[in-house]
Amino acid sequence: MGIQERYRRERAQVDEACLAAGRSPEEVLLLAVSKTVDVSGAQEAFAAGARAFGENRPDELLRKASALPQAQWHFIGNIQSRRIPDIVAHADLIHSLYQVKHARKMNEAAARLGKVQKVLLEVNVSGEASKSGVAPQDAAGLMEEVVALPHLSLRGLMTMAPQGDRAYARQCFQELVVLADQLRAQLPSSDAQAFDQISAGMSEDWEEAIAAGSTIVRLGRAIFSEEFE
Ligand SMILES: *Cc1c(COP(=O)(O)O)cnc(C)c1O
Repeated sequence: MGIQERYRRERAQVDEACLAAGRSPEEVLLLAVSKTVDVSGAQEAFAAGARAFGENRPDELLRKASALPQAQWHFIGNIQSRRIPDIVAHADLIHSLYQVKHARKMNEAAARLGKVQKVLLEVNVSGEASKSGVAPQDAAGLMEEVVALPHLSLRGLMTMAPQGDRAYARQCFQELVVLADQLRAQLPSSDAQAFDQISAGMSEDWEEAIAAGSTIVRLGRAIFSEEFE
């Protein structure tokens, strides 16, 4: 099985899981996380129908987004201040914002480019020290700062669940969805409408995420690794 077949298999399984959960497959984006492959790997997934890709390093985002500009490119990695101009120049959506100082720098970079940068707030739902993200109780404060920045558009929340325990992963995803509902209720209606994305679920736990209400699943190994066959 190659990348194209694995992509098609995953898309079909995601569609099935949506229907099983009483959801429409169109409301769930399959983000192909191409961080472990070269441009040619991303091109193969594109040929099979992938239209949105995720990268976690600015240099790789730049390189692959320039090589495959027909696709949408998302940034899902750790944010460093000095790389923000490069990230903003190439990312359609940034999933991993959780610091006010980075939000301000993104806003400045987007203003210089004459763009409005779409962002998600990364939330550390589980509270694990190894995970990044804003603590759930601090998310409302961060949200207020972000929605006040004119060149950012806040689209929703992102999380990474602890690995290895599916039931606990599902609980984390459910908590993220509840938090998103609470935050949305605090926004003025124009901002609330745009705040509709939940980025949750990876190769090993995306089924739990879809059941919980995820709208973006981020799949790397399930598409790009031969071990997932
Ligand atoms: C690598 C990565 C993924 C994809 O992980 P897989 O387990 O390979 O599907 C998703 N989200 C983030 C933030 C990642 O860094």
